[in-house]
Amino acid sequence: MTAPTATRKAKIPSRSTKVTTKKQKPECTQCGLCCICTQDQDRFCDVTEKDEKRLGAALTKRYVIHTSLFEACCMRDDGLRFPDGALATRWRTMSRGPFRGWSMCTCVFLEGTVRARVRCRVYDRRPDVCRKAMVPGERACINLRALYARGLLDAEENVE
Ligand code: SF4
Ligand code: SF4
Repeated sequence: MTAPTATRKAKIPSRSTKVTTKKQKPECTQCGLCCICTQDQDRFCDVTEKDEKRLGAALTKRYVIHTSLFEACCMRDDGLRFPDGALATRWRTMSRGPFRGWSMCTCVFLEGTVRARVRCRVYDRRPDVCRKAMVPGERACINLRALYARGLLDAEENVE
């Protein structure tokens, strides 16, 4: 995620911006935070063979990146676990919402504007990890949303 250029200042929420509490179940269609990358990366969430079957051959061929033998060897040497495959990513500039003007690396299937209006293009066929890793309103979700809310406030202080 990169900060906006000087000519296009992001609209930052005020300090009174409320962070969702446990009692309020957040709307994923107005969020999308767990579908964006925290850095520049070419692949995002793990995809298994079962996920590929559900996605279908055409989408798998186009959007799933498989780990090459060379990558697998390097990762193993570094003690890292490597997935069979992962979804591709893409960079997009947010057109509205609190991240307006920011460039973000997101899952290739995320459409719309983060923290405003988003949609998963393959929602019914999304990988298992998307179904299990983050449940709206549970602790990981609340923590992630709070983390980004704090990040936005920090950004506000830096551009003042
Ligand atoms: S699970 Fe939580 S963090 Fe992910 S999109 Fe939904 S509300 Fe946002
Ligand atoms: S497949 Fe859908 S739910 Fe999973 S990371 Fe991509 S946009 Fe999010």
